[in-house]
Amino acid sequence: MDKVSLHELSYEEARDYFSKKDLVILPVGSVEQHGPANPLGTDMLIAEALAREVASRTGIISLPVVPFGISFHHMGFPGTVTVSEESLKGYVLDVIRSLSKWGVRKVLIVNGHGGNLPTLQLVARQSMDELGVRVYVYQWWTSSSGILEELFSEDERGHASGAETSLNMHLHPELVREDRLIDEEPRGSFGGRVYRFVYTHEMSDSGVFGRQSSATPERGSILFERLVEDLLKIVREIETE
Ligand SMILES: [Zn+2]
Repeated sequence: MDKVSLHELSYEEARDYFSKKDLVILPVGSVEQHGPANPLGTDMLIAEALAREVASRTGIISLPVVPFGISFHHMGFPGTVTVSEESLKGYVLDVIRSLSKWGVRKVLIVNGHGGNLPTLQLVARQSMDELGVRVYVYQWWTSSSGILEELFSEDERGHASGAETSLNMHLHPELVREDRLIDEEPRGSFGGRVYRFVYTHEMSDSGVFGRQSSATPERGSILFERLVEDLLKIVREIETE
């Protein structure tokens, strides 16, 4: 099997890679509740799997996944781990500073958790400003290709619902408790007219937003392949930018 992640390379192999390529893939996830059926590591596991698959098909090296993210809103559920925005920003920037020493000029972040996005946008800005390293943030559920909308209904696209659960069933079936699948309609606040910080447990008793019971490994397999193809196109565009 080919090596696909930086931590699997020797320093000689790393030197060879960085002499030819200035792009790496960095998966970033979270360890947070995803309902009673799914593992806490859903976001890090999906981000890692996408990054490794794209790495294996392109020869662009992945980095080990950054497991923890911004998950304050899920702290009402056991096992959730959050880091502060300052910690995540500083940590990811430190990783990019190190990579820039080896010639990296572009970093494609495969983000598995929406709560990380504002912080990763700050990372992208500061990385460009300070190091001249371009950071691209890809999120599979907001990919503009419309893949998710094509394959899953609106109530299957929420946190821990059909789409995410299907990906887990495809990638890590042994970690999904199919006897604990739950459908729950989330309770809104103010109908989106004003923002206030809301904990997940205020909106959903189970932690699931939407319909989970329609998840299958087959649907997860189709979604995963489509997302990988989408990412391959993005990698090609980034390489030529
Ligand atoms: Zn998730």
